[in-house]
Amino acid sequence: MAYSKEIYERALNEINKRRTDAEISAEKRKTELYKECPDIQYIDLQLAQTGYKIISSYGLSPDDVEKTIANIKKENDTLKAEKRKILRAMKVPEDYLDIHYTCSKCNDTGFYEIRDEETGISHGTKLCSCHIELLKKLAAEQMAAQTPLELSTFEDFDLSFYKDDKESFEQMKYIFETCVSYSRNFGLDSPNLLFYGRTGLGKTHLSLAIASEVIKKGYNVVYGSVNRFFAKIETEKFGRNNDTYTLDLLCDADLLILDDLGMEFSTSFTNSVLYTILDTRICKNLPTIISSNLSFDELKDKYHESVVSRIIGTFESLEFLGKDVRQSSDRR
Ligand SMILES: [Zn+2]
Repeated sequence: MAYSKEIYERALNEINKRRTDAEISAEKRKTELYKECPDIQYIDLQLAQTGYKIISSYGLSPDDVEKTIANIKKENDTLKAEKRKILRAMKVPEDYLDIHYTCSKCNDTGFYEIRDEETGISHGTKLCSCHIELLKKLAAEQMAAQTPLELSTFEDFDLSFYKDDKESFEQMKYIFETCVSYSRNFGLDSPNLLFYGRTGLGKTHLSLAIASEVIKKGYNVVYGSVNRFFAKIETEKFGRNNDTYTLDLLCDADLLILDDLGMEFSTSFTNSVLYTILDTRICKNLPTIISSNLSFDELKDKYHESVVSRIIGTFESLEFLGKDVRQSSDRR
């Protein structure tokens, strides 16, 4: 998918920093170890001269070259064995002096070369998966920065608000526990959830609480009101660049939370966008949470059948019950 220039730059800076940090810390380990054990430094110096020794053997007869190279190899093997022995005696791991990159596939360059396995010929470079993950994470973080996640936690969800009515209380207790266990056990195979019921019953509060827990687990979560997303998607689509930035972000997020479905003005454009988002995510098997003030019948009236069937067929629905009064100003 396409990311903004800023996200690309930040990702590349972060990857470059990972590489530099890995190299600096390897260099630091080496300096310290050499100080502690000059023998290791001596061995490394000998090993570093291998290329020079081989070049010096040119001009000899083919038989002598072969013998010289075999000797160099034998010497090197002895040196390496000696080095391993010293490291073991010092209780230092064998790979202690290697550069420990965060990603061993691209050695923290963000790109890797695609080579033909047989011929070794390069077919160009590709974005490494670590780079793609980072781009996704940064884009989701940027989006989350616009969301007041810290306002809603499971700890400050007050179940006593529902206790006047036994049925509401039991149902809300069940929903609360379902949400806690959902965020605790979250994975990319988690189910889709539909929160529905009147305003003021805690749907936004519990979605935000799930979002903040899932983000803490390292997943990228995109959260926002349907209204706001549709306005952005529309501006991008009909803008100069025919951009699909927000739509891609919504389709790709590890967890997408669409708040307040049904508050937006329904048009064929919103229906087709909603269908695209739901269908793409269902095909990719990525979880989505939708909250709506509309009942099932109202959803059916408002959206195309294709959209409604996607929701009814693949979402686990949870009906929020209680008095039609807001728990607090930040609860919807
Ligand atoms: Zn990588």
